[in-house]
Amino acid sequence: MSLMKVAKQEVARRMARFESVCRDEGIKLTHQRMEIFREIAQCGDHPDADQIYQRVRDRMPTVSLDTVYRTMWLLNDLGLVVTLGASRERTRFDANLANHHHFVCERCGFTRDFYSEELDRIRLPDSLGSLGEIGATHVEVRGVCTQCLKSDT
Ligand SMILES: [Zn+2]
Ligand SMILES: [Zn+2]
Repeated sequence: MSLMKVAKQEVARRMARFESVCRDEGIKLTHQRMEIFREIAQCGDHPDADQIYQRVRDRMPTVSLDTVYRTMWLLNDLGLVVTLGASRERTRFDANLANHHHFVCERCGFTRDFYSEELDRIRLPDSLGSLGEIGATHVEVRGVCTQCLKSDT
């Protein structure tokens, strides 16, 4: 798995927003919530709740999977993360709230952000209107990541 991390400055910006949103909403800044958010804020690889749990457990042996689930959906309700994927069980979380798109490896699930002003301005077909009201648009590019390609050879 890639350990490419989010830039320190961006992590600090996300943590500051997390703290101010919690303060405004009267949400207690517990140690567990801080650590769970810090994990999603710094990892950049769009983990699901189970992966987040595995990672924070090293630092906080007392944390439960249930707490991680509840915290992630709380963060989602607070607008501090967005979710990827349709199934609630395998939902992946993303602390990047800027306009961006995803590259997804079909073999290992590696999911990485990329940016494109052209894709941000993508024109959607009018026929979409008959399916419902449009919120956000993001492009998911699927393929095989460089790590998986390497293990092929
Ligand atoms: Zn891969
Ligand atoms: Zn993302």
